Amino acid sequence: MASGVDGEVFEQLVSTVDRFARERLIPAERRVEEEDNIPDEIVAEMKEMGLFGLSTPEEFGGIGLNVPQEARLIEALCYASLTFRSLIGTNVGIGSQGIVMDGTPAQKEQWLPGVASGDVIAAFALTEPDNGSDAGGIRTSARKDGSDFLINGTKRFITNAVRAELFTVFARTDPNEPGAGGVSAFIVPANTPGITVAKPDSKLGQRGTKTSDVIFEDVRVPESAIIGGPVNLNCGFRTAMRVLDRGRIHVGAMAVGQSQRMLDIATDYALTRKQFGKPIGEHQLVQGLLADCQAELHAARALVRASADTFDREGKAIIEASCTKYFCTEAAGRIADRALQIHGGAGYMTEYDIERLYRDIRLLRIYEGTSQIQQLVIARRTLTQRAD
Ligand SMILES: Cc1cc2nc3c(=O)[nH]c(=O)nc-3n(C[C@H](O)[C@H](O)[C@H](O)COP(=O)(O)OP(=O)(O)OC[C@H]3O[C@@H](n4cnc5c(N)ncnc54)[C@H](O)[C@@H]3O)c2cc1C
Repeated sequence: MASGVDGEVFEQLVSTVDRFARERLIPAERRVEEEDNIPDEIVAEMKEMGLFGLSTPEEFGGIGLNVPQEARLIEALCYASLTFRSLIGTNVGIGSQGIVMDGTPAQKEQWLPGVASGDVIAAFALTEPDNGSDAGGIRTSARKDGSDFLINGTKRFITNAVRAELFTVFARTDPNEPGAGGVSAFIVPANTPGITVAKPDSKLGQRGTKTSDVIFEDVRVPESAIIGGPVNLNCGFRTAMRVLDRGRIHVGAMAVGQSQRMLDIATDYALTRKQFGKPIGEHQLVQGLLADCQAELHAARALVRASADTFDREGKAIIEASCTKYFCTEAAGRIADRALQIHGGAGYMTEYDIERLYRDIRLLRIYEGTSQIQQLVIARRTLTQRAD
C-alpha cells in the first residue's frame, strides 16, 4: 500500500471529520442552500483541519492520504451536503492532481503548498461548449509565439472558477492533430491577463457550489507552464485521464457517503411515520425499499474500497474506477429515489432534507465522465482484455 498516513492518526482524522460533518456541516446546510454560499467561518475551519490538502504529499504541506484513505475520509465528509466537498474537491482532486502526478519539482514547489493550505484554489478546465464527453476533441488552442504560448478558447461548467487562483487548462498545441494526441496541460495563474470568469451558473442542486464559463483571450504563458515541462508537449490528455481515473474512485466515495445519509433519513422516517395503525417501516413493501437501499449501499462501499486498494497497489485502476463511478452513482440515484418515496408527499417538500439531497446527488452521474462514458470505458476494456 502507498505510504499514506499512519493507521492510528488516520482513524483519529476520520472520526474528527465524521464529527465535523454531523455536528458542524449538517446544521449549516439550510443556510448554505438559502444563501447559495458557504459561510466564511466554515471555510476557515475546513482550512484549519487541512481538508484542502488531503491528497497533497506531506512534503508540500498536505496530509498525504493514499487513495483508500482518501476514499474513507471523503465518504465521512459526504455524509454532509456535497456542497462542502465541492469547495475542497478541486484542490484534493482534479484541479491539482495533474501537478502532483506529472508536475516538475519547480511546479510542485511553487503551487502545492498553497493548494494544501487552501490559500490557493485550483480549478480544472477541460470541458468546452462543444466538447464535453468528447474531451479529446477540445478546440481551445495554445499557439506557439516565440518561447511562449497564446491560449484562446472557452471552457464551460468549471467548478470553483470564481474562487480560483490557478487553472489547470487543457489546450490544443498541435493544430494538425485533431484528437487527444495534440493536447497539452498548462498551469495558468487566474490573474494572467486575458482571462475572464463569467458569472456563476444557476443549477438544479448543490447550491453554494460555483461553476462558470472561463474565457481565454490571447492568454500568454511560458512553455514552463506545461505540466511536467516542455517535454510533456502534446501529452496533456494522458495527465487528464490519470487525474480522472483517481477522481472516479473519489466520486464513488462521495456517492457512498450521501447514500448512507439518505438511507439513515429514510429509516428514521419509516420508524416514526405511522399509517394503518403502525410505523410504515413495519409494512413489508416499505421494508423492501429499505432493503434494496441497504444492499446497494453495501455493494457500493465494498466496490469503492476494492478499487481504491487496486489503485494503491498498481498506480492505476481504469476498469475498476469506471465500474465504481458508474455503479455507485447510479445506485445513489436509486437510493435517493427510494428514500424520497418512503417520505411520501413530505419527500417532495423542501422542508425535508431528502428533497435537496435528491437534487444534489443527480450531478454525480454526469460530471467526471457520464454514466454512458463509464459504460464505454468498461465495455472497451472488457473486449480488449479478452481479445489480448
Ligand atoms: C456542476 C458541474 C460541474 C462541472 N465541473 C467541471 C469542471 O470543474 N471541469 C471541467 O472540465 N468540466 C466540468 N464539468 C463538465 C462535465 O464533466 C461535463 O458536463 C460532462 O463530461 C458531460 O459533458 P457534456 O455536458 O458536454 O455532455 P455531452 O457530452 O454533450 O453528453 C450529452 C449526453 O450524451 C451522452 N453521450 C455523449 N457521448 C456519448 C457516446 N459516445 N456514447 C453514448 N452516450 C454519449 C452523454 O452520456 C450524455 O448523456 C462540470 C459539469 C457540471 C454539470
